[in-house]
Amino acid sequence: MAVVAVLYQIVTAEKQTNNNITTSVISKQMSDKSITVALAGNPNAGKTTLFNKLTGARQHVGNYPGITVDHKEGYFNHDGREIVITDLPGTYSLTAYSVEEIVSRDFLTTQRPDVVINIVDASNLERNLYLTTQFLEMGVPLVIALNMMDVAKDRGIEIKFAKLAELLGIPVVPIIARSGKGTDELIRQAIRIADSDKKWIPRDISYGEDLDEVLMEIIAAIEKASFLTERYHARFTAIKYLEHDDQMLTKGQEADQELARQLEQTVGTISDHLLKTMDVYPEAIIADHRYGFIKSIIRQGVMTHKFDTDRLYTSDKIDKVLTNRLLGPLVMLGILFGLYQFTFSWSELPVAWMEGLFSWLGAIVETTLPDGMLKSMVISGVIDGVGGVLGFVPLIMFMFFGIAILEDSGYLARVAFMMDRVFRMFGLHGSSVMPFIVSGGIAGGCAVPGVMATRTLRSPKERMATLLTVPFMNCGAKVPVLVLLIGAFFADHKALYMFLFTMLAWLVALFAAKFLRMTVLKGEATPFVMELPPYRFPTLRGLIIHTWERTWQYIKKAGTVILGISILLWALMTFPGLPQSEQDTFNAARNTITNSYSEAVQREVMDFNDNTDVLSEKALELKNRLKEIEQEESGLTLRNSVAGRIGSFFEPVSVYAGFDWKTNIAMLGGFAAKEVIISTLGTVYSMGDIDVDDADSLGKRLVKDPSWNSVVAVSALIFIMFYAPCFVTVVCIAKEASWKWAFFSMAFNTTFAFFASVLVFQIGNLLG
Ligand code: GDP
Ligand code: MG
Repeated sequence: MAVVAVLYQIVTAEKQTNNNITTSVISKQMSDKSITVALAGNPNAGKTTLFNKLTGARQHVGNYPGITVDHKEGYFNHDGREIVITDLPGTYSLTAYSVEEIVSRDFLTTQRPDVVINIVDASNLERNLYLTTQFLEMGVPLVIALNMMDVAKDRGIEIKFAKLAELLGIPVVPIIARSGKGTDELIRQAIRIADSDKKWIPRDISYGEDLDEVLMEIIAAIEKASFLTERYHARFTAIKYLEHDDQMLTKGQEADQELARQLEQTVGTISDHLLKTMDVYPEAIIADHRYGFIKSIIRQGVMTHKFDTDRLYTSDKIDKVLTNRLLGPLVMLGILFGLYQFTFSWSELPVAWMEGLFSWLGAIVETTLPDGMLKSMVISGVIDGVGGVLGFVPLIMFMFFGIAILEDSGYLARVAFMMDRVFRMFGLHGSSVMPFIVSGGIAGGCAVPGVMATRTLRSPKERMATLLTVPFMNCGAKVPVLVLLIGAFFADHKALYMFLFTMLAWLVALFAAKFLRMTVLKGEATPFVMELPPYRFPTLRGLIIHTWERTWQYIKKAGTVILGISILLWALMTFPGLPQSEQDTFNAARNTITNSYSEAVQREVMDFNDNTDVLSEKALELKNRLKEIEQEESGLTLRNSVAGRIGSFFEPVSVYAGFDWKTNIAMLGGFAAKEVIISTLGTVYSMGDIDVDDADSLGKRLVKDPSWNSVVAVSALIFIMFYAPCFVTVVCIAKEASWKWAFFSMAFNTTFAFFASVLVFQIGNLLG
């Protein structure tokens, strides 16, 4: 390729008849490679003016093969370097909607110029940068010529081009093409970029949760098939597919029918989904996010109007309040607190119904199934385990509904925008905010997509710091555990505590990140840019679909993974059972007690076992004494089980944090999936207490249990929030980073969580 380019230079140089290149310059030019430059920009941005200024008469006009678009090429020297410059047709975008766009795109990808000068009309910055974002996404080596500075000045527009350059990560040179002012510096920068000989590095712009997820899927397919990867980065091709780019679609058809079908189907599915939920096409969302990206750049003090004549759009007006330096964070906290208040107060009744439903189911099984292993498994493993998790479905649903409102309206992006300032203080990046929110920053996310969302971070160290700290957020699996413990021990201030624990999660994550950035992940911060899509009115249909999708995922998980783990843990908690000798001891004790009562009383207890009301006083006494033995026996069985032994093994250490062996079992189970903490606690506390008469909810059982109190509850909450991420997240971290980091994350988090809980427990006990 390089050889061809050099040959091309030589041939074109020879074609010039009236050139002023002397032999000595040519030999110099051979040593200092000549440079190819493409001039691109919106129509009327001043390309031709600049082109003429730079090349004078040394240009020739032809046609691009087969079409009527002008192909203008010219030559000039700068400090002895020869520059070949092409004036591309003016375009607003790089999607193949028009001939001009196709020509520009094809030229860039087939000719691969050393540098692209993107000429931008400074008096119309926002609109012009739309094309710029696409060059950034394509990854071409880019320099911005900020043209018409005179016009901008007349209109009272002031542009801080250094700031713009910093945020975009490319040189920005202000010029006045008509007078030639600034063009020397422009060419110097262009040569600098051309010489830096970098590969094309695309800039990833986030297109929102829905599209980003699909993009990853498409990118993987494109990379696997190496479709057009020699010309475009896979992400660019993927975006063009989402934009229904005809040329790309045709190329796909020609290259690989199977792949094309697969890609078109994926795109079709997401298009339908977006149409249904938000009534928009992917193209519109993509455009929105590009403008959001631009807006967030301009908003960071890049452009100021001296005359306040510019029209404010509704979104901008709303943002004046909602992202205001002082008011913004206050409103944000208010909204978050409101979300918890809404979730807890509205879901209280339905959650009680669900609890009632599962107690009722338990009671039915209790009376219909014969005593034995099966009954124990169904009641303790399935109903108390999975039921405990499913009981929170109404709450999860309300919470997701609230979050869907924030997300669909565009407010969540503002939260990210505001949090950004805070994040930089902790050595994280603006783009870290979304992964944090996705992982459960507002409670109810999941660390797995959170870890994957860190892909938009370009600096490896900032990415690593984000990836390792997102599991500290309160994901959807931890929420019910938090709710259970908060509900049981701090029933009067549920929303407040939930809010405080959410804040705590952020604080811990941020300080952990800072710690990592100061130790194992030391390094520079990189500038950031975040997208601000316009506000939209959420549609009810969209809200319901979004809520249902997530709720259904939760239910599905409870019905499959959690059910499996729950039964497995039940088995671990049941086997190997008590040794025969001890069983005999218990049976003997039972017999002795039973036989100390008259035969009539014995019969009464057997016949009316489930109906305490009709029992005589004597019979009731017998029943209660038998129950005591039963509880002692099942308690001992649990302690003797595999899980019980593991829990007991850790007890000497865990007591410092206030956890007994039963709680240890639940924490171990929680490593499989955090919801399992509830189901395991459910099973543990139902095994020692299998009588239906007081089939209390798990919360009530915990409050009654002597080994639990509010200090233990806080200590347990802290441990659950911060200890090792669940198994799936760990695997995901290993895939995104390495197994080394995955193990680091388990060890680091668990150690930290343990010491934090010990601290809380010991101090809590001191204070009583
Ligand atoms: P193209 O469509 O990108 O090739 O844009 P042109 O080079 O044809 O320029 C469009 C118009 O803007 C012409 O009337 C130019 O004279 C004018 N123009 C270009 N650059 C400048 C500049 O820096 N300042 C001013 N005031 N006008 C300019
Ligand atoms: Mg022109």
